[in-house]
Amino acid sequence: TWAAVVAGPPDPILGVSEAFKADKDPRKINLGVGAYRDGNGKPYVLPSVKKAEEIVDGSKPDKEYLPITGLAEFTKNAALLAYGSESEPLKQGAVSITQSISGTGALRIGAAFLARHYPHAKVVYLPVPTWGNHIPIFQDSGLEVRGYRYFKKETVGLDFEGLKADLQAAPEHAIVLLHACAHNPTGIDPTEAQWAEISDIVKEKKLFPFFDMAYQGFASGNTVKDAFAVRHFISQGHQIALSQSFAKNMGLYGERVGAFSLTAADPEEKARVDSQLKIIIRPMYSNPPLHGARIANTILSTPELYTQWESEVKGMADRIISMREKLYNSLQNDLKTPGEWGHIKSQIGMFSFTGLTAPQTKVLAEKAHIYMTSNGRISMAGLNASNIDYFAESVDAAVRG
Ligand code: PMP
Repeated sequence: TWAAVVAGPPDPILGVSEAFKADKDPRKINLGVGAYRDGNGKPYVLPSVKKAEEIVDGSKPDKEYLPITGLAEFTKNAALLAYGSESEPLKQGAVSITQSISGTGALRIGAAFLARHYPHAKVVYLPVPTWGNHIPIFQDSGLEVRGYRYFKKETVGLDFEGLKADLQAAPEHAIVLLHACAHNPTGIDPTEAQWAEISDIVKEKKLFPFFDMAYQGFASGNTVKDAFAVRHFISQGHQIALSQSFAKNMGLYGERVGAFSLTAADPEEKARVDSQLKIIIRPMYSNPPLHGARIANTILSTPELYTQWESEVKGMADRIISMREKLYNSLQNDLKTPGEWGHIKSQIGMFSFTGLTAPQTKVLAEKAHIYMTSNGRISMAGLNASNIDYFAESVDAAVRG
C-alpha cells in the first residue's frame, strides 16, 4: 500500500540534536535546541512551576474532560497577560480565546480559522527568515504563503526598509504574521518606533495582523515590555489574531500549554467566533490537556506565585543577556575575531543569528564538536560559564579559517 511513499527529509533542527547525541567528545556543545538550559547546562523546571504543581496536586483534582476551548480560568488569565487589564476589547468582552496545544497548536487553529472564515484572499506574509514550522503550518491549513523582507545580511540587523516596502506592496487585506517579540531565528526585533510605523502600514493597507507571541517575558525579562507590539496594535484599533505559548516563559515545553485569541468587534461577534472555533477544534483533538493549563493558571491567578514566576522569567532572560555580553566581549575585545560582533549583544531572546556561514558551522561541528543549525543560529541558552570560552575560541578559529 505504501510502496509509493517517498522518504521525507529529516527535521533540520532535530537533526542537529541527533548529531550531537552521537558525538562522544566531552567538550561537545548543543546550540541547536530551542529550550532553556540553566547555568550548568541542564533543563530547568521553574520553582514557581513546582509550587503550582504541589498546589494542583493538593487540591485532588479529577481527570474529567475540559470543554473544547479549555480551562476558562486559564484562558481568561492568559488573555490578561497578553492584552493587559486596560485592554479595551478585553474590557468589552470582545476577545474570543481558546486553550491550545502550545504555540504550534494556537497557530494551527488560527490558520484553520482564517482558511475557513477570512473574507478576503487567503494569502499570508511571513518574515524571511522565520521559524521553520510557520511555513508548513500555514500551507497545510490551505493558505498561500509569501515572504516579506526581515533580515539584512550586511548589517546582521533588521531590513526595515525592505520590510516596509514589502508590506506596502502586498495586496490589500493580506494576512501578515508578526513575531511579537524575540524573533526566531534572528533575535532581531523592531524598535517601539518601528512597531508604530508597521502598525500604520498595516492600517493603511488593511492588512490583517497575526501575532505569534512565543516568548512573552523571555525576551526582556518583563512581560509588559514584551507585549508592547500586541498592545500597541490593539491601542491603534486593529483587530488581531494572537498565538501564545507557555513553553518558554514557564518552561512548560512538553506540557503543551498555549492559547489562541481573536479580537472581535463586539461581544455578539465574539460569541459567533467562539462557536466557530469550537467547530474547528472538535474534530481536530476534541479538547485540550488539563495538567499544564492547571499549572499555568495557578501561577497566573496566585499573586505570590505570579511575582515569583516573574522574577524567574527575568532570571532566565538575564542569564541569556549575560551570555550575550560575555560572548561579545570575548569575540570583539579579547580575541579580536575578524568582523563586527555587536549584533550578539543587541539581539534578543533565546536565539542569536551569529552571521556564521554554513561551511563555518560544518567546521565547528567536525573540529570543535559544536552543533548549531547551518544558518548560523545558536541558542544562547546552551552557553554557560563552563563552555563559553571554548565556544568563543572555536568560533574565532573557524572565522579565521
Ligand atoms: N513560534 C515561534 C516563533 C517559536 O519559536 C516556537 C517554538 N520554537 C513556537 C511558535 C511554538 O512552540 P510551542 O508549540 O512549543 O509552543
